[in-house]
Amino acid sequence: MRLFVAKEPSEDQRVAAVPETIRRLIQLGLEVDVEADAGAGSQIPDQQFIDAGAKIAPPDKISEADIVLRVQPPTVEMIAQLKKGAIHLSFLNPFASDKLVNAFANAGVSAISLEMMPRTTLAQKMDALSSQASLAGYAAVLLSATTIPQILPMMMTPAGTIQPAKYFIIGVGVAGLQAIATAKRLGARVEAFDTRPAVEEQVTSLGAKFVKIDIGETGQTEQGYAKELTAEQLDLQRQGMAKVCSKCDVVITTAKLFGRPAPVLVTEEMIAAMAPGSTIIDLAASPQGGNVVGSKFGESVTTENGVTIIGPAIIENTVARDASLMFASNLANFIEHFWDKESAKLTIDPAHEILAGCLLTHGGAVVHPKFTNATK
Ligand code: NAD
Repeated sequence: MRLFVAKEPSEDQRVAAVPETIRRLIQLGLEVDVEADAGAGSQIPDQQFIDAGAKIAPPDKISEADIVLRVQPPTVEMIAQLKKGAIHLSFLNPFASDKLVNAFANAGVSAISLEMMPRTTLAQKMDALSSQASLAGYAAVLLSATTIPQILPMMMTPAGTIQPAKYFIIGVGVAGLQAIATAKRLGARVEAFDTRPAVEEQVTSLGAKFVKIDIGETGQTEQGYAKELTAEQLDLQRQGMAKVCSKCDVVITTAKLFGRPAPVLVTEEMIAAMAPGSTIIDLAASPQGGNVVGSKFGESVTTENGVTIIGPAIIENTVARDASLMFASNLANFIEHFWDKESAKLTIDPAHEILAGCLLTHGGAVVHPKFTNATK
């Protein structure tokens, strides 16, 4: 089988395979083509891919591939170039676009959506959403540390004592936990809140304080994602968080709802009560909005009262090489898991417990029950 590693659009510095994973894929029996310059954003020169056994190829070589790896969703035009029967692995943002799902079905391509990877122990090693979220949480703390006009740890010097910076992390999933751990390591005082009750223990075990807000019954889905709150519950949550925000130097929001728009959690009034120089990082920012009123996707804005609000587009870009390494490992783990040694092929059984969760199209049809009604 031939595998093609696509170059990402210029806004994404990552790449879906690195020399280490290419060696693993070649060992399986795959022939690997890497699009020229695909590793540039992650500081991986073409020569390193060649040394690992891959060939450097022009973009149109994709049409010969049996397996395609990339990070970002392709365009409909890119899907049209794929070979019938090919297997395509990437993020697909499938809730945002029926068009892509239908294009994959029409092209006869088996499309795996990495966002839909089941949250099970077996699939954990293939879970790119988690591997990237964890780096995002880390990177958000570092970004905030260079934005605020102060240091994070307490420092006692002959010149005086500096108090630790105060952080508030809203949403304690994979990104939030890593943000807490990173801010704690740098010496900040950290508080955190999440609507899933199970999180409190994880927060305290990292040495942070869990902010208690009574918003009535909350919960999580079978996959571990938060359930949507009612408008009244969201109001209660915002009231409960307002005081904490006003005392914090940095607020990092990571609160997402799988397959739905992120809830608005930090309002104009809450921002107006924050001190000049404080910073909010909205990791849920998207072109459709995020957790923070006034955050702009891919931009940094400063409010009239001097609060910086950053809505990073792809914060993983700041640690692109490690982000690529983790993403590439997730994909190599997937291929190794489903590799059939006898036939030397990647086999797709739509009924397999992992594939039933993340395979959107197969054999010329939309097969995932969440998308079978995708508009043509
Ligand atoms: P996510 O990115 O969907 O959301 C981030 C966090 O925001 C979540 O913790 C969510 O509860 C929280 N949130 C949503 N609405 C909120 C609100 N109004 N206020 C405050 N917080 C709010 O979630 P995630 O990081 O992908 O992870 C969710 C859970 O799944 C975590 O417990 C994680 O450990 C678990 N998980 C399990 C596996 C596995 O078992 N293989 C893999 C990855 C994640």
